[in-house]
Amino acid sequence: MAPTPRDEHDGAELTVVADMWSPACTVIRTFLARNEIACRWVQPTDQAGRELLTDHGFTVADTPVLFGSDGRTLRPTDEEQLAQWVGLHTKPTSDSYDLLIVGGGPAGMAAALYGASEGLRTILLERWAIGGQAGLSSSIQNYLGFPDGISGSDLTDRARRQACKFGAELVISLRADHLRPTDHGFAVHCTDGITITARSVIVASGATFRTLDIPSVDKFNGRGVFYFSALTEAPLCSGSDVYIVGGANSAGQAAVYFASCARRVIMLVRADSLAVEMSTYLIEQIEAIPAIEVRTGVEVVDASGDTHLEHLTLRDRTTGAVEQVPATWLFAFIGADPATEWLDGSFARDDRGYLLTGPDIAIVDGSDSPWPLSRPPLHLETTVPGVFAAGDVRAFNGHRVAGAVGEGSMAVMLVHKFLGD
Ligand SMILES: Cc1cc2nc3c(=O)[nH]c(=O)nc-3n(C[C@H](O)[C@H](O)[C@H](O)COP(=O)(O)OP(=O)(O)OC[C@H]3O[C@@H](n4cnc5c(N)ncnc54)[C@H](O)[C@@H]3O)c2cc1C
Repeated sequence: MAPTPRDEHDGAELTVVADMWSPACTVIRTFLARNEIACRWVQPTDQAGRELLTDHGFTVADTPVLFGSDGRTLRPTDEEQLAQWVGLHTKPTSDSYDLLIVGGGPAGMAAALYGASEGLRTILLERWAIGGQAGLSSSIQNYLGFPDGISGSDLTDRARRQACKFGAELVISLRADHLRPTDHGFAVHCTDGITITARSVIVASGATFRTLDIPSVDKFNGRGVFYFSALTEAPLCSGSDVYIVGGANSAGQAAVYFASCARRVIMLVRADSLAVEMSTYLIEQIEAIPAIEVRTGVEVVDASGDTHLEHLTLRDRTTGAVEQVPATWLFAFIGADPATEWLDGSFARDDRGYLLTGPDIAIVDGSDSPWPLSRPPLHLETTVPGVFAAGDVRAFNGHRVAGAVGEGSMAVMLVHKFLGD
């Protein structure tokens, strides 16, 4: 059976000494939480933190420092090193597979499960953490079979165990950097120099979050400003005011989630109404929670503070009036772009960069046709024959967990057809 992504880690205990307001601390906290690695956090200025540092010959300037229960220590320089140190499965066990999947969100995990359970030697590469965007959801209410909802981390854990049970190899902290056809299939080159070959590929790399792109706000990333993260930070926001930027379902879910612990949740929505982007069930839920205030037609234009976020400047988009409000916590959920930067120009895309597949590939007669063969493309096949796309990365996908899971599963059936099994 293939190694699970957490084989060597299970049972270990970690202590992290890091300043809560340092960006490096946020990266570590998010990485460990997303990979479901339990740890104890200690401020470097607390007595326990000072003692741990001194006992191991470190100073506050060396933080963040990780301490293992076995006496090992680490000053992490990047996520890959951190992943290796905590014992995640970061290297493939072979260099050749039947099916290679890029992306460990719902689409990729469904493909891994079906690929492995139907006899394909299957490997999945995930650059960050299994679960993808869905892993960040506090409560997924619209996924079939879970009438009371399920948290993203619970769904992820179930998917991971199920895929591993069938022998799928899940590799964490490995980023696909380039894909090229070979005589017998494809080679995927990864950022750390590893190359993996496979007879077929499913691209399930989903979408990457947009940031506000306001320099004064970016300055506070991880120090009061957070993107698409709620689960990790929520315990720290207890009793505070929380600002949420965005008007789609992910922002709505976060508002509901924070309302259970924050003093007040203020949603800042650029559109004139939540109905523009949000599902009706969520709007009704938000309207029923007195602690949530929805401000429409408003945008963030500036931020200020000393060591962390202290004030936001908001602008009314209709009148142009600006106001400054005290704010310590800002969570932005403002959309995402397709994660296709690692694929070259032989993959046809729509005007927003999402991959075109199957019947959506316009078959143009002559040399302009993006499809190179005389047979028509299979349903989820990209313009590179034998490479399929599933989930949010695909054009005309509904950007829902159920759609991603369905497409991931269906892509495996098409892979079988392509391979002639
Ligand atoms: C906060 C939040 C709440 C949501 N709530 C709901 C909900 O309640 N119901 C619902 O139906 N939908 C919800 N969604 C949407 C849903 O999560 C997405 O539609 C779904 O996750 C898409 O799955 P995916 O596998 O296609 O892509 P993703 O989930 O985006 O996963 C793609 C994965 O690929 C990885 N990756 C990208 N590039 C590379 C690379 N080069 N190499 C290796 N790995 C790579 C990424 O790190 C990521 O883990 C929510 C989304 C968010 C952000």
